[in-house]
Amino acid sequence: MSAIERDVVIIGAGASGLTVATELKKAGLTVAVLEARDRVGGRLWTDDVDGAMLEIGGQWVSPDQDALKSTLAELGLETYPRYREGENIYLNADGELSRFEGEIFPVPPKTEAEIVTLIEKLDALVAEIDPDRPWAHPLAKDLDEISFSRWLETQTDDQEARDNIGMFIAGAMLTKPAHAFSALQALLMAASAGSFSNLVDADFILDERVVGGLQQVPLMLAERLDGDVRLGQPVRRLRWHEGGVTAATDSIEVKARFAVLAVPPILISRISYEPPLPRRQQQLHQHLSMGFVIKVHAVYETPFWRESGLSGTAFSPYELVHEAYDNTNFGDSRGTLVGFVADEAADGVFALSAEERKRRILTSLSHYYGEKALEPVVYYESDWGSEEWTRGAYAASFDMGGLARYGADLRTPVGPIWFSCSDMAGKGYQHVDGAIRVGRETAAAIIAAARA
Ligand code: FAD
Repeated sequence: MSAIERDVVIIGAGASGLTVATELKKAGLTVAVLEARDRVGGRLWTDDVDGAMLEIGGQWVSPDQDALKSTLAELGLETYPRYREGENIYLNADGELSRFEGEIFPVPPKTEAEIVTLIEKLDALVAEIDPDRPWAHPLAKDLDEISFSRWLETQTDDQEARDNIGMFIAGAMLTKPAHAFSALQALLMAASAGSFSNLVDADFILDERVVGGLQQVPLMLAERLDGDVRLGQPVRRLRWHEGGVTAATDSIEVKARFAVLAVPPILISRISYEPPLPRRQQQLHQHLSMGFVIKVHAVYETPFWRESGLSGTAFSPYELVHEAYDNTNFGDSRGTLVGFVADEAADGVFALSAEERKRRILTSLSHYYGEKALEPVVYYESDWGSEEWTRGAYAASFDMGGLARYGADLRTPVGPIWFSCSDMAGKGYQHVDGAIRVGRETAAAIIAAARA
């Protein structure tokens, strides 16, 4: 067991932990980052799969994400827009295909009117929510006691309107069924992106990608930390008292004045604490869980859908793959589609053999793009649910009632222990922008505490 001493030990080398370390080091503090995996980046991971460069985790950048954008600029990383020329596809409950442009799906006029009204109502509610303090809304408790699906039922009898609005938050964002999270949690998700309208606008929320992949952010940050990041070091124990901490892996002990737990909140309880964390933290961490989604990558010899005037953007709350996009890499002559299978639909296909799962997923893609979608040259499913150091995708959210009850304490430090992760962000919640934003705030607070 080797022992080292630093000002701050950071547990987790994702975008958040590496941002904390970078900011602390800039301020003259010494750091050690302990990472469980044999790579940095956590939920950011770019890999070569059968000759195709795939972004297995997070990839898109939206215009409001100024924390992420400033980091990209600082690192000199270039972005490029998602391909979106041409018409989008919508499939209704009867499997009928329509092409459309704009944000509102081609649904019957009455349903369209209901969707527009629902978006207006949600925008108005979201405008009242502070993403950093959703629990402070006067109706927070009431909104946290009703599931998002039940709330939608109180607003409209139109099933297709409910299915579509539900999909934007449930399958597409929190990746949990709409009966499993509250209306308040749904409003936080929308408030974190500025408005509900922003969430339903694919051109906004999935605007750009980074040339070479978004994992370059953590890779470059780690490189600049020059030896302060230790890989393959899962932290098992954290001894702490008001004046400091000792973090222990199987082979290293780091003694420090402060610790930052830069891990998804569902993994906090995998570490043994001496003494135990306070009752409040032990309770609140039990009320968060990861969503679950399969990100499916299908690479073809050419982006064949473009030839028939399609953008590649496709939606249906009634399809196994509820949303799909043209995900062709910058400068690549091959065409890539990315699709998502969320929550209970993902449970369902993981009960099948790998071969049958692939067949069903490609069949769903073929409902949007035709028979050619059945024959990709590279096929890959991002399966974050089986990753020990993540356990789901995209991120963690509270169960019913949990946000109003515990949200305010999620980031409250415990003695020398601080918490930093995208799943604890207000603006940029569950996104890389939030990971960086919270990382900067945590670093600033520790610098102030260190100087006090
Ligand atoms: P993580 O990236 O989870 O980092 C935590 C780190 O802690 C990990 O490296 C983990 O290995 C490590 N760790 C855990 N426990 C321990 C321990 N005991 N000891 C040591 N180390 C430990 N966001 C976007 O902005 N745009 C997108 O398009 C997007 N798409 C996504 C698609 C998928 C499939 C997924 C999974 C996520 C996506 N996200 C997206 C979300 C985004 O990737 C995350 O919000 C962000 O990367 C989280 O960063 P983080 O540092 O907070 O946490």
